Amino acid sequence: MQILDGKKTSEDIKSEIAAVVQKMKDDGQKVPHLAAVIVGNNGASLTYVGSKVKSCQQIGFESTLVALPETITESDLLTKIKELNEDDNLDGYIVQLPLPKHIDEQKILMAIDPDKDVDGFHPANFGKMALDMETFLPATPFGIMELLERYKVETAGKHTVVIGRSHIVGRPMSILMSRKGNPGDSTVTLTHSRTKNLEEFTRNADIIITALGVPEFLKADMVKDGVVVIDVGITRVDDTSNPKGYKITGDVDFDGVSKKASFITPVPGGVGPMTIAMLLKNTLLAREMRMQK
Ligand code: NAD
Repeated sequence: MQILDGKKTSEDIKSEIAAVVQKMKDDGQKVPHLAAVIVGNNGASLTYVGSKVKSCQQIGFESTLVALPETITESDLLTKIKELNEDDNLDGYIVQLPLPKHIDEQKILMAIDPDKDVDGFHPANFGKMALDMETFLPATPFGIMELLERYKVETAGKHTVVIGRSHIVGRPMSILMSRKGNPGDSTVTLTHSRTKNLEEFTRNADIIITALGVPEFLKADMVKDGVVVIDVGITRVDDTSNPKGYKITGDVDFDGVSKKASFITPVPGGVGPMTIAMLLKNTLLAREMRMQK
């Protein structure tokens, strides 16, 4: 069994990007600039955005944190989005989800300039992805593809089962794994909460990607020997032995499943760190695209 080490791989990717940024600086070019918009004081969101900004600083990107109050109206947020779209100094930005209930998330995501949409959530970019055109891939699926590629995990002709059909992980993952190319060329089954007899699919899967958010859902008796397992789940579970009062748990019963797996991602240290690295990669791509304009 081999661990797909997202922590190490993401550090490698960040070093590679830092080297490109250093070259940009040496050549007197503008470095990539990423902004993160956060609305309100959601603890997990603040942590995610904080580590995104920290990573930017680590690799030499410019970064801006746009912190807005929970009470901001939808129309004021749309005005802010327009400003960011028109800011020539900015290459890409993300709007951290979830947004407060009084704001229509879809409306906000639709207002982002697709050329600055480094999260890859805009329908124009999602459509390009589905049509095999160059675009920003959503960061988490992009990170999974990168892990599979760097560890030379064979995907062609394999049966991939994705659990979860969210717009940010499960659905795009099913598209990417079925695309022509490497990684890809897989036969994909996309499963979800209404799937009957899920075990029949998982037991026949060569590759399983879990993105459902149910701690330790995938057990050893649900998989076959030699399976490749990618665990996207991140759930905070109460843990009094931890000073924080909780621990981060994935969707996979790691101890049981890892005994049968050929490759497996741990949680934490698997897909999570890859997501930030790929957001940075998308921002570099955004800068390069703007330089060519
Ligand atoms: P979501 O929470 O929007 O939806 C969950 C999906 O799982 C739904 O499509 C649902 O149909 C499916 N599902 C729920 N229960 C199921 C069951 N019993 N059997 C089969 N399918 C079931 O999904 P999401 O936003 O993709 O998040 C999923 C998990 O991934 C969460 O734990 C989230 O925190 C984590 N996540 C991690 C990263 C990362 O960077 N590692 C990024 C995004 C999401």
